[in-house]
Amino acid sequence: MNVEPVAKTESGGLRLSLRSETRFAAVGLIVVGVFLISMWAATWWAMCAQRDALDQARLDQMQVTGASLARCAEVMLADGEVTALRRIVAQTAQDAHLERCRIVLPGGRVVADANPADITLRELPAQWPGGAAVLPTEGPPAPLVFTLVVPQRGSAVLEMARTEDLSQTSYWLTQAGIGGICVTALLALLVLYRRVRAGLRGICAVREALLAREHGQTTLEALEVNPEWGPEARAWNDMLGQEGARQKHVALEKTRETLQARVCGTDRLTVACDALSQGLILLEKNLRATYVNSAAALLLQAKREDMLSADITSFVKDERVVAAARAAAGNGAMQRRTIVEVQRNGETGGGVLRFIVRPVRRDDTGVAMIVVEDITQQRAAEEARHTFVAQATHELRTPLTNIRLYTEMALEEGQKDPAVLKNCLSIINQETFRLDRTVADILSIAEIEAGTMTVRRDDVRLEEIFPELQADYEAQARGKQVELEFRLPPKLPVLKGDREKIRSALHNLVGNALKYTPAGGQVRVAVKVDQDQLVVDVSDTGIGMTEEDRQHLFEKFYRAKDPRVAKVTGSGLGLAIAREVIRLHGGDIVVESELNRGSTFTLTLPVPPEGA
Ligand code: ADP
Repeated sequence: MNVEPVAKTESGGLRLSLRSETRFAAVGLIVVGVFLISMWAATWWAMCAQRDALDQARLDQMQVTGASLARCAEVMLADGEVTALRRIVAQTAQDAHLERCRIVLPGGRVVADANPADITLRELPAQWPGGAAVLPTEGPPAPLVFTLVVPQRGSAVLEMARTEDLSQTSYWLTQAGIGGICVTALLALLVLYRRVRAGLRGICAVREALLAREHGQTTLEALEVNPEWGPEARAWNDMLGQEGARQKHVALEKTRETLQARVCGTDRLTVACDALSQGLILLEKNLRATYVNSAAALLLQAKREDMLSADITSFVKDERVVAAARAAAGNGAMQRRTIVEVQRNGETGGGVLRFIVRPVRRDDTGVAMIVVEDITQQRAAEEARHTFVAQATHELRTPLTNIRLYTEMALEEGQKDPAVLKNCLSIINQETFRLDRTVADILSIAEIEAGTMTVRRDDVRLEEIFPELQADYEAQARGKQVELEFRLPPKLPVLKGDREKIRSALHNLVGNALKYTPAGGQVRVAVKVDQDQLVVDVSDTGIGMTEEDRQHLFEKFYRAKDPRVAKVTGSGLGLAIAREVIRLHGGDIVVESELNRGSTFTLTLPVPPEGA
């Protein structure tokens, strides 16, 4: 169903089309019309029926009256009592409401008539005219005609006709009466309808509004009805008002909730930005900071409140960063990000900061964003990687160069002098071992750095390892004229761990002590079990080291600056690997040393409880 548009009423409310009311009125009128027409038709039919019955009754009565009048007239005409006959005819016509009542002799002469003026034969003639009576031609034919037979005189005709006018008039009067009643009833109904309509208008309007609402009209203003249409209309308008107020309240609540959600969201965003390890700065077009997170303040070593609303130049000194920010926020010259790396505090060693400057959105150059990162460690790692590659290459290249040189020498001079050949092959053999060890060490270091080094959990029988160690290095110590002493307890524990790796770590410590102890010196390996710890002291009276060397001793590829160290072959990987391996077993290696006086390396390892 279509809802017709609404129009403004003078009262300011909105008026609906009131089709219901119109329909109601139309239906009412049709019902009343049909009722009245039915009433009229029924009455008309009844009247017709009644009139026919009446006519028939009157006809019957006229027949009877006519028959008796005819008998009477025959007698009176035979006796010549014309005057009496005329009186009876007039009386009968009056009593029976006859329009016409007359006696006509043959030849058409009227001897008696209800209307005396129409009598054409005053006296009965002596000679009775023969033939049939001829009725006058004027007027409607009489409905009743009686033939009179007058003895000894002849025949005559009694003609009778009732008064038609009377029944017609009464019929039309009745019809007019019914019509009047109908019109009166209609008028009364109209008056009644006007009264009822005043009461119904509000209800109809409310019904219209309800239908409009059901068909999608949700604007409350459009559903208002004229308040002058009764209490229902006013109640409806009140209800709409309450609904409007409720809707407003709901809308307000929703807006409030949305705002609250946004505020919470912004808060969360702020918290999240504050939790970032990178610094974040938002700059307006005038290069003043509108947002600074805590990391940015920390990295730029400034107070956050001082940075907020301050010009970028007050907390970033590097011109390149300022220019990039100006381009991003100011003149729209920059659409992409600019990366600037700045030495912290303008000096090396103070760390490196990376500034990533970009517009917040590519199409919006009004706000710039600066992300600040501390890439000091990243840089150090990169450098360490480069150093490692360079050092590893160097460590590999040295034995390879030696192998190549001595191979060439062996090829050139070895055939002439077997002693040279032997010496060359011996050196090549040593360098091959060295190369093999270095490659193994580099692989171990790579494993350590990748965190993939694993250690086995075998039984490590120290009573087997230390005698082997002593046997391995005794010859070397003797050759170098260094006194090597092992002080072992009567009973050595069995450890849990990777036998080979622990053995290598001990080898490294004892080997270093011998390597860096000149002839005439001493190397002592003292082993003891202290509660649940194995403690191995490897001390020597060698070259020792400076405090700075001691601090970097366990870094990979690190070798002391001492020129005496450079004379000894080594890669600077042994200690780094040894300490990591021991730490993986839950132990540690520490060192005490004094330049030119000697060093003591102490290795500790956990001893499992007996029977474990
Ligand atoms: P390498 O001995 O192959 O150079 P290491 O990692 O075993 O590598 O040792 C690293 C450095 O520690 C050595 O180069 C040396 O400078 C120093 N160092 C190790 N052991 C001793 C020691 N007993 N006495 C003096 N310096 C030592």
